[in-house]
Amino acid sequence: MTAQIIDGTAIAQKVRDEVKAKVAARIAAGKSQPGLATVLVGDRVDSAAYVGMKQKACAELGMTSFHHPLPADVSQEDLEKLIKELNADPKVNGILVQLPLPSHLDEERVLQLISIEKDVDGFSPINLGRLAQKGREPLFVPCTPFGCIYLLKEVGVQIKGANAVVLGRSNIVGMPAALLLIKEDATVTVVHSRTKDIPAVLRQADIVIAAIGRAEMVRGDWLKPGVAVIDVGINGIPMLNEDGTPVISQKTGKPRQKLVGDVNYAEASEVAGFITPVPGGVGPMTIAMLMRNTLRAAEIQQG
Ligand code: NDP
Repeated sequence: MTAQIIDGTAIAQKVRDEVKAKVAARIAAGKSQPGLATVLVGDRVDSAAYVGMKQKACAELGMTSFHHPLPADVSQEDLEKLIKELNADPKVNGILVQLPLPSHLDEERVLQLISIEKDVDGFSPINLGRLAQKGREPLFVPCTPFGCIYLLKEVGVQIKGANAVVLGRSNIVGMPAALLLIKEDATVTVVHSRTKDIPAVLRQADIVIAAIGRAEMVRGDWLKPGVAVIDVGINGIPMLNEDGTPVISQKTGKPRQKLVGDVNYAEASEVAGFITPVPGGVGPMTIAMLMRNTLRAAEIQQG
């Protein structure tokens, strides 16, 4: 079997086009531009790059972004003061605190402080708690798991009644992905570092969402033929020449890296019915869903 590739870049672009059109319609109707506040503590290069991509997406979709860079040694008190100001600012519809925060800061307290109407990342305990409760709906769902479910639905994978296995139980991907699948009436197993015989568990799955951060760990013979595979992992591994030696960049003189997922794509795509590539699968969906959540925040707050 050769899997159908789920083109996350194209599906994310469709979501972004829809958001852009709705933002333009709101502005034409005299409403204010949706606004996203981004809070970046410290100078982690990867975090700064993610925040930059989110600001760029806001500009492309007609939204305003308000950036708040803070020094790595900012106090808990000052960070909380900023969050309270952003909660009270009517121009700010969504608040995004880029994680991880430096270890001296209490992440849980910060996320708890974000008003649930502005929690566009969906990480506040109230929104996550509602996701876990029957009959309750969160205002916002975390962007990466939301993107995973969106991709499955977009290509017509049947979630209701399916056996789904989520690899990973982090607060930002694995656990909310499992809760979302349960809300969609799948039967869900969550695999983590203490799970016994992961291949045997995976072979029962009609849907696999892999979010463990282990390069190409999931092999083709761990999968049931026809399974839908959503690979969230983003892992850098050395690029190799045909003789197995590392490819050296002529520009930097350093070994070149390539990005791979948590699933061995070459093997899995021979077995699966659907598969997301890395890059170009889940990655683009995360920002698209953040933009969707920010528009929704503006709609909730301004009508
Ligand atoms: P975390 O490190 O927070 O969580 C990893 C999870 O995987 C944990 O639950 C851990 O288990 C489990 N795990 C680790 N190793 C194994 C193993 N050998 N066998 C079974 N389970 C294992 O990672 P994140 O959830 O933050 O991210 C996961 C991946 O997704 C990363 O590659 C990250 O880069 C990527 N990512 C991609 C995004 C995107 O937009 N595409 C967004 C966010 C993340 P335990 O709980 O027992 O420790």
